[in-house]
Amino acid sequence: MGALEQPLRLPDRLAGLLPAAQSPPVFWPPVFLPPVLLLSALLLSALLLTGCASAGGPGPAGSAGATPRATPEALREAEIQREFAARVYYERLDRLNAVAWPLVTAGEPLCRQRGRARQGLGLVADSFNRRDNRRWFEALSTLWGVGEDTVVVTGVMPGGPAQRAGVRRGDVLHAANGRPLDVSGNTADLTRRLDDLAGAGPLSLELTRAGKPLSVVIPAPVGVCDTRLTVVVGDAVNAYADGKSVFATYGAMNLFAKDEDLAVVLGHELAHNILGHVRQDASGKANGATTPEQEAEADAVGLYFTARAGFSIKDAPGVWRRLAAQNPTHISAGGDHPSTAARFLNLEAVRDEILMRQAAGLPLIPRPRVVPGR
Ligand SMILES: [Zn+2]
Repeated sequence: MGALEQPLRLPDRLAGLLPAAQSPPVFWPPVFLPPVLLLSALLLSALLLTGCASAGGPGPAGSAGATPRATPEALREAEIQREFAARVYYERLDRLNAVAWPLVTAGEPLCRQRGRARQGLGLVADSFNRRDNRRWFEALSTLWGVGEDTVVVTGVMPGGPAQRAGVRRGDVLHAANGRPLDVSGNTADLTRRLDDLAGAGPLSLELTRAGKPLSVVIPAPVGVCDTRLTVVVGDAVNAYADGKSVFATYGAMNLFAKDEDLAVVLGHELAHNILGHVRQDASGKANGATTPEQEAEADAVGLYFTARAGFSIKDAPGVWRRLAAQNPTHISAGGDHPSTAARFLNLEAVRDEILMRQAAGLPLIPRPRVVPGR
């Protein structure tokens, strides 16, 4: 099979940018994993795959069973590479947060209409311990000075309440409003607990930065769309939504190197979550495939999110030409997603409608849409 015919790797039961072409990769982790665990699980799998791919390389055939013990130099190099990988991961998460924050704040009225808004501080906190973050613990302690069972700020939204109050990524949090932070539970719980505390009034945080104690008071949260944001390690060009989170792969973030293009992609996935296109069962598992109509609706509402956030949407339809070049099988494909050709035309029409509204000073609220052709 030529590279151009290669199917996309897309976990099914998720509303993706493009159709699901195969079952989920075995290493796909549950969505409630904190980013570092996600990183750990995905990178481990990626390393295993790389191991398979190099089987035909130099060295005696069939020697895979006799893996030599790593030398102290190799162990040290592995530490360096893990630290580098963690740095790269959090840089990408920073970019995802920076592009998504204007979408979820400027789009809050649209989310509120659907009962999908809440108050947010614009910070993401994770708890770390050697037990759960075995492979990454040393790297993160070098990076941020995390200790056993510590809560670290892993994301700060640019221009958000936490950043304006002086919180920085890598700050180690100890107490909120005088109470020690509970390190149990997953990232989403922890971040949400802080958001909820802030909803009741100013939030005072006790933290250490580079070993020095500090106090920070965040006066008030702001209204945001209720969604989580996750970077997925992997080259496959994809983005998807599971009803609660928006995911983007390294591959998608590379292809959409311009923030306004990445915003179109994230806006689309945010729209799936806000419009309730992906249902979750009681266990939190996403169910059901999206329809071509829902895809067209997510494209349209997503572009409204993008425009409201202040990104230029002039070249937004071009996202579909770039995706078509990456995956030519989708140029005229049907199935559960419209073709990239139909999606370009749909987005062009929505873009013109938004530009017309902006020129006329009309509010950027999407109208119910007529289903376009495939
Ligand atoms: Zn979609």
